[in-house]
Amino acid sequence: MDDDGVVIIGAGICGLATALALHKKGIKAVVMERSESLRNVTGAAIGIRPNGWRALDQLGVAETLRHTAIRVKRERIISLDGRRQKEISLTNWDGETRCLRRKDLIDTLYAALPPGNVKFGCQLESIKFDPYSTKPVLRFIDGSSIIAKVVIGCDGGKSIIADFLNLKPTKMFPLGGVRGLTSYPNGHSYDHEFARFQKDNILVGRIPINDNLVYWFCAHPYIPKDEKNWEDPEVIRQSTLELLRDHPQEVHELIENADMKSLSFTRLRYRAPWDLLTGTFCKGTVVVAGDAMHVMGPFLGQGGSAGLEDAVVLARTMAQLGLNNGKGGSKLTVHGVEEAFNRFVKQRRMRVVRLSLQTYLTGMLLSTTSLLKKIMYIMLLILLFHNKNSHLDYDCGDL
Ligand SMILES: Cc1cc2nc3c(=O)[nH]c(=O)nc-3n(C[C@H](O)[C@H](O)[C@H](O)COP(=O)(O)OP(=O)(O)OC[C@H]3O[C@@H](n4cnc5c(N)ncnc54)[C@H](O)[C@@H]3O)c2cc1C
Repeated sequence: MDDDGVVIIGAGICGLATALALHKKGIKAVVMERSESLRNVTGAAIGIRPNGWRALDQLGVAETLRHTAIRVKRERIISLDGRRQKEISLTNWDGETRCLRRKDLIDTLYAALPPGNVKFGCQLESIKFDPYSTKPVLRFIDGSSIIAKVVIGCDGGKSIIADFLNLKPTKMFPLGGVRGLTSYPNGHSYDHEFARFQKDNILVGRIPINDNLVYWFCAHPYIPKDEKNWEDPEVIRQSTLELLRDHPQEVHELIENADMKSLSFTRLRYRAPWDLLTGTFCKGTVVVAGDAMHVMGPFLGQGGSAGLEDAVVLARTMAQLGLNNGKGGSKLTVHGVEEAFNRFVKQRRMRVVRLSLQTYLTGMLLSTTSLLKKIMYIMLLILLFHNKNSHLDYDCGDL
């Protein structure tokens, strides 16, 4: 059994960002990822709003990423309920918003890390505390084990580390999400805007990444008994076209011409906001971050950015407690790490509670067919989130 210092489980957006933030603060960490290579294709693209750019700036990768995507200047909401298409809202955005190809984001974070920092093909099976040393012991599916000084669980919405911390199980929205990319080798004619088409319980979004590539998604009711094979790209395309048969031609065209390799379907999972309010996110020298802590629906487009914020805050609190000075992690005292994790959780809790609650209410508003419930969700949103974009002003602070 090896003895490692800081071990991060999962090389998604949050795991890589956390490794980079720790590296910048002089704390060595190794990332252990179950896949055999970077998971940089699934999900096609991701919208990053001003709060996410602030975190990327701190991580030192924002400039590189700015060159990969155009700035989106406004949001337009098009209502398709009733007979005629109606523009119900147009908002000009001041803050920086861009839609990044996931591949660009993941590859850029990975490239900024020292070589060999990520170990692939390491699927965590279980974690427990060693009864004598109280250090976390990680067991992998190939039968190997390691003893770590510190474990940061960035293993996503179905997190083994979150289960170990006894967090309540995550829940499902009654909605599924299809995502894809459509290429236009000769250029597309869409404005630099985020267009949202709303009809009944279906939401379609379209955002250009650059002049030749467009990201789109479709959130729609999920029928649990649905026998369709949502893993097959052709089934995803045909089923989405069928769902959107009453939508305008410009929406059809996007899906018909989608790059088949980019298509994916996801059931939308969330950690209930009230569970976030009370959950224990760290125990000893084990903590969770990113989706493992606060998986939320995509309705505000904030899950990934919240994971980037986590990375900055976590590395900063560890460095503030002097955990970055020792060679080989020798300054990683149990007491210091526990204190750092408690401070991290304290700083992040209300931020993620509010993001998750706003996301939850927005998702439930989209999915319900009851007029009474719709009114209730609208009232709660107005009451609790009077300025619906205030979450974008959040600044995670300096690394
Ligand atoms: C439809 C949809 C649209 C979205 N749109 C946006 C958006 O526009 N903007 C935004 O900010 N966010 C968005 N999100 C949310 C965003 O995608 C997630 O919040 C983000 O990807 C989470 O990153 P993560 O690193 O925490 O987790 P993940 O991306 O899930 O990464 C977890 C990693 O851990 C690995 N792993 C899991 N289990 C183990 C194990 N046992 N052992 C080893 N490795 C393991 C996985 O292979 C994976 O690489 C969207 C989500 C969905 C579903």
